This record gives sequence, structure tokens and C-alpha cells, in this order.
Amino acid sequence: MTAAYLEKLNERQREAVEHGVGLAGGKIGGPLLIIAGAGSGKTNTLAHRVAHLIVNGADPRRILLMTFSRRASAEMARRVQRICKKVMGENSAVMTDALSWSGTFHGIGARLLRMYSEQIGLNTDFTIHDREDSADLMNLVRHELGLSKTDSRFPTKGTCLAIYSRAVNAECSINDALKTAFPWVAGWEEQLKSLFSGYVEAKLAQNVLDYDDLLLYWSQMASVPEFAHEIGSRFDHILVDEYQDTNRLQASILSALKPEGRGLTVVGDDAQSIYSFRAATVRNILDFPKQFSPEPADIITLDQNYRSTQPILAAANGVIDLARERFTKNLWTERKSEQRPLLVTVKDEKDQAAYIVEQVLANREVGITLKNQAVLFRSSNHSGTLEVELTRHNIPFVKFGGLKFLDSAHVKDLLAVLRFAQNPRDRVAGFRLLQMLPGVGSQTAGKILDAIVNDPEPLLSLQEIPPPSKTGEQWMGLVSLLVGLRRAAEWPGDIAAARIWYEPYLDRIHEDPETRKADLLQLEQIAAGYPNRERFLTELTLDPPDATSDQAGVPLLDEDYLILSTIHSAKGQEWRSVFMLNVVDGCIPSDLGVGSTAELEEERRLLYVGMTRARDQLTLTTPQRFFTHGQNAQGDRHVYASRTRFIPVTLLQFFETASWPKVAATASERSTHQIRMDVAARMRSMWK
Ligand code: ATP
Ligand code: MG
Repeated sequence: MTAAYLEKLNERQREAVEHGVGLAGGKIGGPLLIIAGAGSGKTNTLAHRVAHLIVNGADPRRILLMTFSRRASAEMARRVQRICKKVMGENSAVMTDALSWSGTFHGIGARLLRMYSEQIGLNTDFTIHDREDSADLMNLVRHELGLSKTDSRFPTKGTCLAIYSRAVNAECSINDALKTAFPWVAGWEEQLKSLFSGYVEAKLAQNVLDYDDLLLYWSQMASVPEFAHEIGSRFDHILVDEYQDTNRLQASILSALKPEGRGLTVVGDDAQSIYSFRAATVRNILDFPKQFSPEPADIITLDQNYRSTQPILAAANGVIDLARERFTKNLWTERKSEQRPLLVTVKDEKDQAAYIVEQVLANREVGITLKNQAVLFRSSNHSGTLEVELTRHNIPFVKFGGLKFLDSAHVKDLLAVLRFAQNPRDRVAGFRLLQMLPGVGSQTAGKILDAIVNDPEPLLSLQEIPPPSKTGEQWMGLVSLLVGLRRAAEWPGDIAAARIWYEPYLDRIHEDPETRKADLLQLEQIAAGYPNRERFLTELTLDPPDATSDQAGVPLLDEDYLILSTIHSAKGQEWRSVFMLNVVDGCIPSDLGVGSTAELEEERRLLYVGMTRARDQLTLTTPQRFFTHGQNAQGDRHVYASRTRFIPVTLLQFFETASWPKVAATASERSTHQIRMDVAARMRSMWK
């Protein structure tokens, strides 16, 4: 008899859920690949598979589940829990600490490195740099080497970091990274080599890891058979969602942990591969079946879409059908509807924002709550005008992707205090912190950091240093704060102490200290949710909270709010009504994404990912003019736009086209094309 929770699944989903479960002698099944299009229930199937494993006796603490974001992992854990509770009863003890190993690749990496730090020669107090910190460190090294002085055309710190990251993640040389992704940087290979060596040495000396290191150290660890075996045998099952967006390092980690692929399940869709700029490679998914011995992986494909209505799916299929290369097949759905996706032309971004606000409110009137609606865009800076309009109408929203709560200077400042206390060799944190003192610039800060760096207890040795001029009492205050924070004894009391020290600085430097202070209190509340300082710093750096309409960090859970999201951050999610704005050439494909066929194809897949987020309603808006937000060489300016090339005339049959506002445009705003049509109509009627 089939368990009730499996009855809702279709045959192939069920096959995927039951694959290799309940083998004689508790044997673990062979490798499995589930490859299928958007909305076919991949994530849902994965959740059922985890639940089914647990129901059949697998120990949830020995399951490693890797997803694309912490939000996705929380959602997955919730689904698993729900199914297990139904089957095993409310108080099934096994579920309370279930899935303790669920998170992102980077998050899990950080945790393992911390666990094994002593064995692998890492100092346990290592701190993690986010991309901005990493770029700052790159910059410090760049200055030390005098690279930016010799030639002002030397790539910026951000570009340097991107090249470095590309080479690390794709496991390729600087030359190859430049050739494939940064052709305009050619000629700097030698300087970049010395910069990157300097950067690596700086990280080692300062006891800091960047995002890429988390994977790099993990994969290095996994290349040592004893470690690979030890970590691999911690887990009976390893399951990975969104596998199409993993890179070579991630694939090599998996195969090192599970060389025969026993207990390994990966899930993905090649048509949704959108992270090649971070060196993700769709080859991972295509090569997966062959890579194991003695048994190759089993492959299960799914072809029914449960998410979208037929007209939405038809339009999305139309877009992806024009792709050059594709492996997954088109999907079908039983969800009938008369409503085709809307393609709405508006005059400019202001009208676009007004239109979207009007429609969002109209939807809410008919019972589609704000949370069931989302506005998606290619690039984080496309939503500015809409954000203003939403605020004007008091419509609360949360923005995923792009600017985060943590990007605001005051939040970063406070975190720098804690980070420096955790790891006083972290120079980026040290520079940031010391320069908050009156009269201290980068030179003085550098000298102080140099003076303490070799001391076994750098924070204590701060007491020996004569106070820099003009710092007066504030120096003493800082030293005693840091000495107090050294042992990380009181959590979250430590963050409160740091805040109290920091607030006078806020008053001095910012015009609106009160709202910023409110943010810091909010940060303290977030901090209280973590067991200790180290976990707080790690998790916040890896997956920071998203920005909300009032910049208050995390939204109140009972509040209804609209989701604004980059398409990248909308991956895996769904809403009843989805708006996509700026669906014009220059935005999608982005001006920056038309350099090669491969880039262009990725932009097309992005549009497909966005469109397939919609369940019942999909609206694409195309402003006739938009603001370039400094994206191209000419800087900020208005440009005239046309509908994205990914929806050529041949695909218009899949859409309902309209313009807004519906009232006829005034004569001066009419396009020449329209005037020609008007004249034609007039002449025709004259001779009727
Ligand atoms: P994406 O590629 O966007 O990540 P996905 O393949 O992971 O999509 P899911 O998010 O798992 O798809 O599922 C899409 C929707 O279809 C969800 O609302 C899910 O509950 C529903 N669904 C999946 N399988 C079934 C089924 N057998 N019966 C009814 N609904 C289903
Ligand atoms: Mg999914």
C-alpha cells in the first residue's frame, strides 16, 4: 500500500522519491539525477524524498541537504517537517533536531571548516569576508604593491576580485579567466598575478577567509582521502537542489565525499542555469550521470508543470524554445485559463511604477494578498522608481537581492567592532574600526595594526600603545571595550556593549542618527537569535537579511508585504501574480550581457526563469524610455527602448498586448509611427 503522502505525486515523482529506499540490509541506493523544467515539482519531490527517507528510518542528522539560499533551506525543512509530523505524529522526537545539516554550500562549508579547523591548520577564530570586505582587502594590497599608482587604467578592486573569483571557482588560470570573461582586461596578467599572490598572503596572515575560500578549503580538505572519508561518512544521504548553478569546485567536493555516488541525489534544470558569471557550469548536471563507478547515476525526468496556467507556460516555452542549446523537454500543464500573459507598453519608468501599483492594489481588492504577488527585475537598481511609488502609497515591500540591510554603513561599522574583537588580525575590520576614532586616518590605523599584529594577544597589547593624538578618552573607551569583548563571554550582551560605544560616533558623523540607532537595535534583536558571536557573524555574512521598505532589517512575519526581487534571487519561488519590469533590450538582455552568444543565452534563460515564477497571472511591462543608471559607458541618461529581443514578433501570439494609460496619448507624445497610421486611416475613410 502506498503511504498517503505519496499519493499526490505523479508516477515519476514517486519513483524519484522512492529511488533506492528500503533496500535489503539497510543498503543505501545509488546516485540519482532528477532533471526537469520549471515548476515540475523538483523541489517538492526532493522534500518528499527527504521525508520518505526519514519515515523509512534514515537518521535526519545524517542527511546533508544543500539549497540555493537559507530561505530555500528553511522552506524545505518546513515541508519535510510537515510530512513527517503527519506520518510519524506530532511529538516524533526524531524530528525536533531534524535536518541540522541543511543550508547553502557556503554555509555548510563554513561550519565544517570551523569543526575541523585545528586539524587543517586554520585558526579557529577565523572571520569571513563578504564581497565588499574582500574587495577592500584587494584594494589594500593593490595600494601596498603600488599597482593603482603606476597606471590609472588598472582594473578596479571589484573587477580584480571578480577575476580572482572566476579563476578560483572555474579552477582555471588567470589567462583563461581573462579570455573567457574579462577580455577587456588583457595585458595585465603579470600584475594581476602578483596582486593575487599578495591577496592570498594577506588572507593567510590575517586569518580571514573569503566566500571562495569556503569552497576552496572544503574541496582541498575533501581531496585528502582521510578527510573525505570522515566527512563523507558523516552523511548517509546528500541531496542538492538547483544543481545547474553549482560550479566545478562544488561538483568535485560532492564526488570526493561520495565517490560511488551512494546516497547522492541532485536536482536541476539546465534551462534555468543563470550563474555562469560565478563560474557555475551546466556541464555539472550533464556530466553527473557518467561520473560514478561502478554504477552510473539513474536519471529521472519530469514533464508535467503544476505551477503555471497553460497560457503562461506556452509563452515561457516559446521564449526558451528559441534557445540554442537545451536538454530538458517542454512541459505541459492541466491548469487551463483564458488569460494570456500581458505585455504592457508604458511611456516611461514613472508610468510603469504607477501602472504596477494600480494593478497590485486591484489584485489585492480581489483577494490576491501582497505576499502572493511579486515584481521582478533584471538588475537591483531597476526598482528605484517603483520603490518610491510604493512608499508613496504606503504599500510595504521586501526586496530580495541587491542592497541588503548589512550594506548600510552603520550596520557594517558595528559588525566591524565585533569582527575585530573576534579576530584582531582582520585588517579590513581593523581599518574600519580605528578610523572611527577622531583624528585617526588610514596611516595611523595601519601603524596601530602593525604594532599589535605579532602579539599572541593583540587586543591586550593595545593597552601598551600610547593613545594616538586627539583620540583622548575615546581611545581608552575602545581599548577597554575590545579587551572586554575578547572572550566573547556575553551574548548578545557583547553587541549591546559595542553599540553603546559606537553611538556617539553615529551622532557625530550622521545627520539622521535616530533611524540608524533603530537599525542597530534591530540588529541586536537579530543577534539574540544566534547562540554565539561566531555563528552570528558567519551566518549574517553568508546570507544577510533582505532590505525592507522601512529599512528595518527583517519584516514582521504577520504583516502583508509585496516582494520585490531580482530574477536571480527569485529562483525556485512562485507567486500567484508576477510582474516583470523593464522587459526591454538593454535591461534584459542587459547591456552588459550581449558580448557573446553564451552571455546572451544566459540572459534568455533569465527571462525564462522570471516568467516561470508566475502561477495565475504574468504581466511584462516595457517602458518606451528608461534610465540607464550608469550602466553603460555614457553614464546615466534616458534612452529609448524597445521590447526585449527575446520576444520577437513571432511570439506575440502568446501575449495579450496593451498600452497604459488607456486614454489616447496626446498628439505630441504619439510616435511618428502612430501618426502615420492615423493619416492612413483618414485617407482611407476619405475615399470610402
Ligand atoms: P523550479 O524549477 O522553479 O525550482 P520546481 O520544479 O522545483 O520548480 P516546485 O517548486 O517543487 O517545482 O513545484 C511547483 C509547484 O507545483 C508547487 O506549488 C508544488 O506544490 C506543486 N506541485 C508539485 N508536484 C505536484 C503534484 N504532484 N501535484 C500537485 N501539485 C504539485
Ligand atoms: Mg525548485
